[in-house]
Amino acid sequence: MASRKLLLLPGDGIGPEAMAEVRKLIDFMNAQMSAGFETEEGLVGGCAYDAHGQSISEADMAKAMAADAVLFGAVGGPKWDAVPYEVRPEAGLLRLRKDMELFANLRPAICYPALAQSSSLKPEVVEGLDILIIRELTGGVYFGEPKEIIDLGNGQKRGIDTQVYDPFEIGRIAGVAFELARTRRNEVCSMEKRNVMKSGVLWNEVVTATHKARYSDVKLTHMLADAGGMQLVRWPKQFDVIVTDNLFGDMLSDVAAMLTGSLGMLPSASLGAPDAKTGSRKALYEPVHGSAPDIAGQGIANPIAMIASFAMCLRYSFNMVEEADRLERAISAVLDDGLRTADIMSDGMTQVGTTQMGDAILARFKAA
Ligand code: NAD
Repeated sequence: MASRKLLLLPGDGIGPEAMAEVRKLIDFMNAQMSAGFETEEGLVGGCAYDAHGQSISEADMAKAMAADAVLFGAVGGPKWDAVPYEVRPEAGLLRLRKDMELFANLRPAICYPALAQSSSLKPEVVEGLDILIIRELTGGVYFGEPKEIIDLGNGQKRGIDTQVYDPFEIGRIAGVAFELARTRRNEVCSMEKRNVMKSGVLWNEVVTATHKARYSDVKLTHMLADAGGMQLVRWPKQFDVIVTDNLFGDMLSDVAAMLTGSLGMLPSASLGAPDAKTGSRKALYEPVHGSAPDIAGQGIANPIAMIASFAMCLRYSFNMVEEADRLERAISAVLDDGLRTADIMSDGMTQVGTTQMGDAILARFKAA
C-alpha cells in the first residue's frame, strides 16, 4: 500500500498539547490498521523563530511542499509580540497558505447532540447541525489592488480596497463546493451581493455556468450574502454546503462557528488545486482556535478541534471516509458519555484534561 506522507507542525502554546493526542491516533492506525502514515515534524511560529530566526525554515517549507497533507496546531503568544513583523508567528501560516496555493477554506459547523444545550441558539435550531462553509481564500477584497490610503490634498484622506474576482477563481472554488456536496447531501448555496456588486454579478454567472457544465446533478441555490447571514442564525439546518467569497466567507464562517459552541471544537481545512498528474491536492488542516496562551502548559486544552481536523484530513486528503466517520463518531460518543474539557463543561458532566479526552476518543475509535 502507498505510504501517506504527513507533516506535523504543532506550533506554539496548546498546539503541541493538542497534536500529541492526534499522534496517538496515527500510531494506533499505523500499528493496527496498516494506515501507512509516514510522519515528519517541523517547527512553525514562535518556536521556529526561537530556533531559526524565521517563522518557518526553508527546510520545513520544503517538507510541507512534499507532504500529502500538513497538520497544523496553532502559533503565537505574548513571548513573540515584539518580534519583527516579517517573522511574527502568523507569517509562517500565511507563507504555508501562499506557497501551497491553498485557495479553498473549508469550515464545517457540526453541532454534536450532547452540546446542543450550550449553543447560544435554541437546542432545536442547532441539534444535529452539519453544514460546510467553503470560503475562497486567496482572492477578493483582501488582496485586490489598488489597496491604499491616499491623501486627497484638501486635508482629507481616502481608504481604498478593491474587490476583484476573475472567472477562473470563481469556477475553481465552485468546483470544490460541488464536488464536496456530492459526498454529502448534494446541495450547494452560493452567496454573493449581486444586487449591489459587479463582482457579485460575475460570481453568480460563473457559479451558474460551472453548475450547468459539470455539476447539474447537484442542487444549486443562490442567496444574497446578508440574507444568508440572517438565515444562518434563523434556521441553519436548511443548508448543506455554502460557497462564498473571501470577505463574506470570513464573516459567515465565524457566525456559523458560534452556532456550535466552543472554539475548542472547530476544525478547518485549506485545499489547493488538484495536481494535473496525480489528481491529489495540497492541503493543510488546522483547528480554528489559536495558541491559547492563557491555558497553555496546564493540560486542560480541548483537543477535539485538532482531532476533528485530523478526521477532515483522513476524509479529504486520503479518501479514508470510513475511518473519518469512525473518528467523528468516537468524538460524539465521548461527549455522549459526559466527558468535557473545561471550555465545554456544564453541570452534571465529568471534567477531564487534554490527555484524558484524547485517550477516551482513542478508546472509542479502537472499539468502534
Ligand atoms: P485563542 O483561540 O488562542 O484563544 C481564545 C480563547 O479561547 C482563550 O480563552 C483560550 O483559552 C480559549 N481556547 C482556544 N482554544 C481552546 C481549546 N482548544 N481548548 C480550550 N480553550 C480554548 O485566541 P487569542 O487568545 O485571540 O489568541 C492567542 C494567540 O493565538 C495570539 O498570539 C494569536 O495571534 C494566536 N492565534 C493563532 C491562530 C492560528 O495559529 N491559526 C489563530 C488565532 C489566534
